[in-house]
Amino acid sequence: MRSTGKTVTAKQAADLLASINSAALFVHTNPDGDAIGSAVALCLALRQLGKTVKIFCDMPVGNKITDSFEETREISAQFSGKFDLLVAVDCGDINRVGEFGGLYSNNRETLTLDHHGGEYYSKYNLVTHYASTCQIVYEIVRQLPVKVDARIATYLYMGLCTDTGNFSHNNTDKASFLMAADLCDGGADMEKINRIFFKDTSITETKLLGRAISHLRTFYDGKMALMYLTQADLKEFDADIGTTAGIVQNVINIDTARVGVMLTEYLPNTFKVSMRGKDFSVRDVCKEFGGGGHMYAAGCMISGFLEDVIEKIERVVGYSI
Ligand code: AMP
Ligand code: MN
Ligand code: MN
Repeated sequence: MRSTGKTVTAKQAADLLASINSAALFVHTNPDGDAIGSAVALCLALRQLGKTVKIFCDMPVGNKITDSFEETREISAQFSGKFDLLVAVDCGDINRVGEFGGLYSNNRETLTLDHHGGEYYSKYNLVTHYASTCQIVYEIVRQLPVKVDARIATYLYMGLCTDTGNFSHNNTDKASFLMAADLCDGGADMEKINRIFFKDTSITETKLLGRAISHLRTFYDGKMALMYLTQADLKEFDADIGTTAGIVQNVINIDTARVGVMLTEYLPNTFKVSMRGKDFSVRDVCKEFGGGGHMYAAGCMISGFLEDVIEKIERVVGYSI
């Protein structure tokens, strides 16, 4: 693990970004609204300053997002080009940079902007406990001679709104509302963000939710609840992994559940595990499997047969529930 990097303030990060001509921004594997919103907002801001900026992600961004937000279509899954600075956005550890993590191993100019309070794997690290990485980008952008136009405001709102669960998770604070008020003033399309991330549900998503619910299992007197979707389910409904992102909320909504687990078999015998906790650290559970995240929202990848994966999770949760 690289832990030699130094901490920078938003002002220092802004000065660094102002001093370079080109930057590559990396968002985490399976990117969410915060990763995408942070990267696109920063990209648009830096382009206003005449910088060359490209965004990379080691897997394609879901159609739901690319269909609705034009700028996300240029996020590339193939790395190319030479850049003065590499920036990891919303990535709590180097593994989250995915395939592109290797680029970080050389003695390059690297910067992390993140809110998972994790590793300092870059040369410069701005790592906070804010509710979203978008709040970090917002602070940086305000230190630069950049106009926060409606597009930038909308992307910043994307991360703020999604990582706070539409201002409902316990990470929502005064700063979140003040930032939202400012973005509202800046012309953020809040209605669109709400519709795309919290309301619009395709027929496929609705059918997948039904299938996942039909697979509900409970453990420890209902304190742990679990749903899953197999490769066969995904194939039957012709769904990509982005289609299943919201389902875990339905698991943790079960009133007795302190731990909600959603398994998606995105490759044969390889599961994306999403966990949510109520007064229970799911991050600790996910760390046992090489993942991470936040105290009450975390994830990991586990390989194996479905029943073995379920048993492993049940056992690790059992240590502390
Ligand atoms: P998700 O369940 O995919 O919405 O992720 C919830 C939280 O866990 C987010 O903050 C992610 O950054 C983090 N997370 C998800 N998957 C992983 C993983 N494989 N490794 C580390 N952190 C993860
Ligand atoms: Mn994220
Ligand atoms: Mn985030």
